Amino acid sequence: MIINILLMFVLGLVLGSFYCKIGTRLPLKQKLFTPSKCESCGHILKYNEKIPLLSYIFQHGKCNECHQRIPAIYPMFEFITGVLFVITYIVFKDFYNANLTILFALSFISSLLIIMVTDIRYMLIPNKLLLVSTLFTVSLKIILEVKNEVHKSFMDVGYALVIMSIYALIMFLIMYIIKKLGELIFRKDALGGGDVKMMAFVSAIVGYKLSIVIVFLGSFIALPFSIINSYRKNDALLPFGPYLAIATIILFLCNVSFDSLLEFIN
Ligand SMILES: [Zn+2]
Repeated sequence: MIINILLMFVLGLVLGSFYCKIGTRLPLKQKLFTPSKCESCGHILKYNEKIPLLSYIFQHGKCNECHQRIPAIYPMFEFITGVLFVITYIVFKDFYNANLTILFALSFISSLLIIMVTDIRYMLIPNKLLLVSTLFTVSLKIILEVKNEVHKSFMDVGYALVIMSIYALIMFLIMYIIKKLGELIFRKDALGGGDVKMMAFVSAIVGYKLSIVIVFLGSFIALPFSIINSYRKNDALLPFGPYLAIATIILFLCNVSFDSLLEFIN
Protein backbone atom coordinates (compact mmCIF):
# COMPACT_ATOMS: atom_id res chain seq x y z
CA MET A 1 0.00 0.00 0.00
CA ILE A 2 2.71 2.51 1.07
CA ILE A 3 4.92 1.33 -1.83
CA ASN A 4 2.02 1.82 -4.28
CA ILE A 5 1.32 5.31 -2.92
CA LEU A 6 4.98 6.22 -3.28
CA LEU A 7 5.09 4.82 -6.82
CA MET A 8 1.95 6.79 -7.78
CA PHE A 9 3.49 9.97 -6.37
CA VAL A 10 6.71 9.51 -8.35
CA LEU A 11 4.73 8.63 -11.50
CA GLY A 12 2.69 11.81 -10.97
CA LEU A 13 5.85 13.92 -10.57
CA VAL A 14 7.40 12.53 -13.76
CA LEU A 15 4.22 12.77 -15.82
CA GLY A 16 3.45 16.21 -14.33
CA SER A 17 6.78 17.40 -15.70
CA PHE A 18 5.91 15.84 -19.09
CA TYR A 19 2.42 17.46 -19.06
CA CYS A 20 4.10 20.86 -18.52
CA LYS A 21 6.19 20.16 -21.59
CA ILE A 22 3.17 19.11 -23.68
CA GLY A 23 1.13 22.09 -22.45
CA THR A 24 3.84 24.66 -23.22
CA ARG A 25 4.95 23.17 -26.57
CA LEU A 26 1.77 21.92 -28.22
CA PRO A 27 0.18 25.37 -28.80
CA LEU A 28 3.46 26.60 -30.36
CA LYS A 29 3.54 23.51 -32.61
CA GLN A 30 7.02 22.68 -31.24
CA LYS A 31 8.32 19.11 -31.27
CA LEU A 32 7.78 17.22 -28.00
CA PHE A 33 10.95 15.14 -27.92
CA THR A 34 13.65 17.78 -28.33
CA PRO A 35 15.90 18.76 -25.38
CA SER A 36 14.46 21.06 -22.70
CA LYS A 37 16.08 24.48 -22.41
CA CYS A 38 16.24 27.23 -19.81
CA GLU A 39 13.56 29.77 -20.77
CA SER A 40 15.91 32.69 -19.99
CA CYS A 41 19.26 31.75 -21.55
CA GLY A 42 18.47 28.75 -23.76
CA HIS A 43 20.98 26.56 -21.90
CA ILE A 44 20.17 22.91 -22.71
CA LEU A 45 19.23 21.15 -19.47
CA LYS A 46 21.40 18.19 -18.39
CA TYR A 47 19.73 15.07 -17.00
CA ASN A 48 20.38 16.17 -13.39
CA GLU A 49 18.62 19.49 -14.09
CA LYS A 50 15.47 17.75 -15.26
CA ILE A 51 14.54 15.72 -12.18
CA PRO A 52 10.99 16.76 -11.29
CA LEU A 53 10.73 18.82 -8.10
CA LEU A 54 14.24 17.83 -6.84
CA SER A 55 16.23 19.81 -9.46
CA TYR A 56 14.27 22.91 -8.53
CA ILE A 57 15.01 22.40 -4.82
CA PHE A 58 18.73 21.59 -5.30
CA GLN A 59 19.22 24.54 -7.67
CA HIS A 60 17.41 26.86 -5.21
CA GLY A 61 14.89 27.69 -7.94
CA LYS A 62 17.53 29.14 -10.26
CA CYS A 63 19.08 28.15 -13.61
CA ASN A 64 22.61 26.70 -13.16
CA GLU A 65 23.92 28.73 -16.10
CA CYS A 66 22.30 32.20 -16.01
CA HIS A 67 21.03 32.11 -12.39
CA GLN A 68 17.65 33.50 -13.48
CA ARG A 69 14.68 32.31 -11.40
CA ILE A 70 12.82 29.27 -12.73
CA PRO A 71 9.04 29.91 -12.51
CA ALA A 72 7.80 28.23 -9.32
CA ILE A 73 4.65 27.13 -11.15
CA TYR A 74 6.57 24.20 -12.71
CA PRO A 75 7.60 22.38 -9.49
CA MET A 76 4.20 23.29 -7.97
CA PHE A 77 2.41 21.72 -10.92
CA GLU A 78 4.59 18.58 -10.69
CA PHE A 79 3.86 18.29 -6.98
CA ILE A 80 0.10 18.78 -7.47
CA THR A 81 0.10 16.12 -10.22
CA GLY A 82 1.89 13.72 -7.83
CA VAL A 83 -0.67 14.39 -5.08
CA LEU A 84 -3.61 13.96 -7.49
CA PHE A 85 -2.20 10.61 -8.69
CA VAL A 86 -1.99 9.43 -5.07
CA ILE A 87 -5.56 10.57 -4.31
CA THR A 88 -6.81 8.86 -7.50
CA TYR A 89 -5.15 5.62 -6.41
CA ILE A 90 -6.64 5.81 -2.89
CA VAL A 91 -10.15 6.65 -4.15
CA PHE A 92 -10.36 3.91 -6.81
CA LYS A 93 -8.07 1.12 -5.50
CA ASP A 94 -10.94 -0.98 -4.09
CA PHE A 95 -13.16 -0.63 -7.15
CA TYR A 96 -14.04 -3.62 -9.29
CA ASN A 97 -11.38 -3.78 -12.05
CA ALA A 98 -9.36 -1.30 -10.01
CA ASN A 99 -6.33 -1.05 -12.33
CA LEU A 100 -8.44 -0.16 -15.36
CA THR A 101 -10.58 2.22 -13.29
CA ILE A 102 -7.44 4.02 -12.07
CA LEU A 103 -6.06 4.18 -15.63
CA PHE A 104 -9.33 5.72 -16.88
CA ALA A 105 -9.40 8.20 -13.98
CA LEU A 106 -5.75 9.19 -14.56
CA SER A 107 -6.41 9.68 -18.27
CA PHE A 108 -9.30 12.05 -17.50
CA ILE A 109 -7.41 13.98 -14.81
CA SER A 110 -4.24 14.16 -16.93
CA SER A 111 -6.22 15.64 -19.85
CA LEU A 112 -7.61 18.31 -17.52
CA LEU A 113 -4.13 19.07 -16.14
CA ILE A 114 -2.65 19.61 -19.62
CA ILE A 115 -5.66 21.79 -20.50
CA MET A 116 -4.86 23.88 -17.39
CA VAL A 117 -1.25 24.39 -18.55
CA THR A 118 -2.16 25.56 -22.07
CA ASP A 119 -4.99 27.77 -20.82
CA ILE A 120 -2.90 29.43 -18.06
CA ARG A 121 0.08 29.89 -20.37
CA TYR A 122 -1.56 30.91 -23.65
CA MET A 123 -5.27 31.48 -22.84
CA LEU A 124 -6.19 28.78 -25.33
CA ILE A 125 -7.04 25.09 -25.40
CA PRO A 126 -5.84 23.45 -28.66
CA ASN A 127 -8.43 21.39 -30.57
CA LYS A 128 -5.83 18.66 -31.08
CA LEU A 129 -5.43 18.31 -27.30
CA LEU A 130 -9.21 18.10 -26.76
CA LEU A 131 -9.57 15.57 -29.56
CA VAL A 132 -6.82 13.24 -28.29
CA SER A 133 -8.09 13.61 -24.69
CA THR A 134 -11.64 12.73 -25.76
CA LEU A 135 -10.61 9.72 -27.87
CA PHE A 136 -8.35 8.35 -25.15
CA THR A 137 -10.64 8.90 -22.16
CA VAL A 138 -13.86 7.84 -23.91
CA SER A 139 -12.19 4.63 -25.17
CA LEU A 140 -10.96 3.76 -21.66
CA LYS A 141 -14.41 4.49 -20.20
CA ILE A 142 -16.08 2.19 -22.75
CA ILE A 143 -13.49 -0.61 -22.23
CA LEU A 144 -13.98 -0.29 -18.45
CA GLU A 145 -17.78 -0.46 -18.77
CA VAL A 146 -17.51 -3.54 -21.05
CA LYS A 147 -15.19 -5.20 -18.47
CA ASN A 148 -17.68 -4.29 -15.73
CA GLU A 149 -20.43 -5.84 -17.88
CA VAL A 150 -22.36 -2.59 -18.11
CA HIS A 151 -22.42 -3.17 -21.89
CA LYS A 152 -23.02 -6.71 -23.08
CA SER A 153 -23.23 -6.27 -26.86
CA PHE A 154 -21.99 -4.07 -29.71
CA MET A 155 -25.44 -2.46 -29.69
CA ASP A 156 -24.94 -1.46 -26.03
CA VAL A 157 -21.57 0.12 -26.82
CA GLY A 158 -23.04 1.98 -29.81
CA TYR A 159 -25.90 3.22 -27.65
CA ALA A 160 -23.44 4.40 -24.93
CA LEU A 161 -21.43 6.32 -27.56
CA VAL A 162 -24.59 8.00 -28.85
CA ILE A 163 -25.55 9.02 -25.28
CA MET A 164 -22.03 10.42 -24.68
CA SER A 165 -22.25 12.44 -27.92
CA ILE A 166 -25.65 13.82 -26.92
CA TYR A 167 -24.29 14.80 -23.48
CA ALA A 168 -21.35 16.55 -25.15
CA LEU A 169 -23.69 18.36 -27.56
CA ILE A 170 -26.07 19.50 -24.78
CA MET A 171 -23.18 20.98 -22.77
CA PHE A 172 -21.67 22.53 -25.91
CA LEU A 173 -24.96 24.33 -26.57
CA ILE A 174 -25.38 25.44 -22.94
CA MET A 175 -21.82 26.86 -22.84
CA TYR A 176 -22.29 28.46 -26.26
CA ILE A 177 -25.44 30.25 -25.06
CA ILE A 178 -23.63 31.41 -21.87
CA LYS A 179 -20.77 32.68 -24.06
CA LYS A 180 -23.11 34.64 -26.36
CA LEU A 181 -25.07 36.07 -23.39
CA GLY A 182 -21.77 37.10 -21.75
CA GLU A 183 -20.72 38.91 -24.93
CA LEU A 184 -24.08 40.72 -25.06
CA ILE A 185 -24.05 41.78 -21.41
CA PHE A 186 -20.34 42.50 -20.79
CA ARG A 187 -19.47 43.43 -24.38
CA LYS A 188 -16.31 41.37 -24.19
CA ASP A 189 -15.33 37.71 -24.40
CA ALA A 190 -16.36 36.32 -21.02
CA LEU A 191 -15.83 32.75 -22.13
CA GLY A 192 -13.37 31.37 -24.64
CA GLY A 193 -14.26 28.96 -27.41
CA GLY A 194 -11.85 26.52 -25.72
CA ASP A 195 -13.95 26.52 -22.52
CA VAL A 196 -17.06 25.65 -24.55
CA LYS A 197 -15.36 22.67 -26.21
CA MET A 198 -13.63 21.61 -22.99
CA MET A 199 -16.97 21.33 -21.17
CA ALA A 200 -18.36 19.25 -24.07
CA PHE A 201 -15.47 16.81 -23.39
CA VAL A 202 -16.16 16.84 -19.62
CA SER A 203 -19.88 16.30 -20.26
CA ALA A 204 -19.22 13.22 -22.42
CA ILE A 205 -17.41 11.66 -19.46
CA VAL A 206 -19.44 12.79 -16.40
CA GLY A 207 -22.80 13.69 -17.99
CA TYR A 208 -24.36 17.09 -18.63
CA LYS A 209 -26.11 17.46 -15.26
CA LEU A 210 -22.88 17.16 -13.28
CA SER A 211 -21.20 19.41 -15.88
CA ILE A 212 -23.69 22.18 -15.08
CA VAL A 213 -22.77 21.80 -11.38
CA ILE A 214 -19.10 22.00 -12.45
CA VAL A 215 -19.69 25.35 -14.23
CA PHE A 216 -21.28 26.75 -11.04
CA LEU A 217 -18.52 25.36 -8.80
CA GLY A 218 -15.82 26.63 -11.21
CA SER A 219 -17.37 30.13 -11.20
CA PHE A 220 -17.52 30.02 -7.41
CA ILE A 221 -13.82 29.08 -7.16
CA ALA A 222 -12.91 31.77 -9.74
CA LEU A 223 -14.90 34.52 -8.00
CA PRO A 224 -12.33 35.64 -5.37
CA PHE A 225 -9.59 35.71 -8.03
CA SER A 226 -11.70 37.78 -10.40
CA ILE A 227 -12.58 40.22 -7.59
CA ILE A 228 -8.85 40.62 -6.75
CA ASN A 229 -8.18 41.10 -10.46
CA SER A 230 -10.76 43.89 -10.84
CA TYR A 231 -9.64 45.46 -7.53
CA ARG A 232 -6.13 45.71 -8.97
CA LYS A 233 -7.74 47.30 -12.04
CA ASN A 234 -6.13 44.55 -14.05
CA ASP A 235 -7.95 44.43 -17.36
CA ALA A 236 -6.25 41.22 -18.42
CA LEU A 237 -8.79 38.46 -18.87
CA LEU A 238 -8.42 35.48 -16.58
CA PRO A 239 -8.61 32.09 -18.25
CA PHE A 240 -11.70 30.25 -17.01
CA GLY A 241 -10.57 26.78 -18.12
CA PRO A 242 -8.34 26.09 -15.07
CA TYR A 243 -11.23 26.78 -12.65
CA LEU A 244 -13.50 24.47 -14.64
CA ALA A 245 -10.72 21.84 -14.58
CA ILE A 246 -10.24 22.22 -10.79
CA ALA A 247 -14.02 21.93 -10.21
CA THR A 248 -14.18 18.84 -12.45
CA ILE A 249 -11.25 17.15 -10.67
CA ILE A 250 -12.75 17.87 -7.22
CA LEU A 251 -16.18 16.42 -8.10
CA PHE A 252 -14.66 13.51 -10.02
CA LEU A 253 -12.35 12.50 -7.15
CA CYS A 254 -15.17 12.87 -4.61
CA ASN A 255 -16.83 10.29 -6.87
CA VAL A 256 -20.18 12.09 -6.79
CA SER A 257 -22.96 11.65 -9.30
CA PHE A 258 -25.65 14.26 -9.93
CA ASP A 259 -28.22 12.08 -8.15
CA SER A 260 -26.04 11.70 -5.05
CA LEU A 261 -25.63 15.49 -4.99
CA LEU A 262 -29.42 15.89 -5.07
CA GLU A 263 -29.79 13.41 -2.19
CA PHE A 264 -27.13 15.33 -0.26
CA ILE A 265 -29.06 18.61 -0.70
CA ASN A 266 -32.33 16.99 0.33
ZN1 LIG B 1 19.35 29.97 -17.82
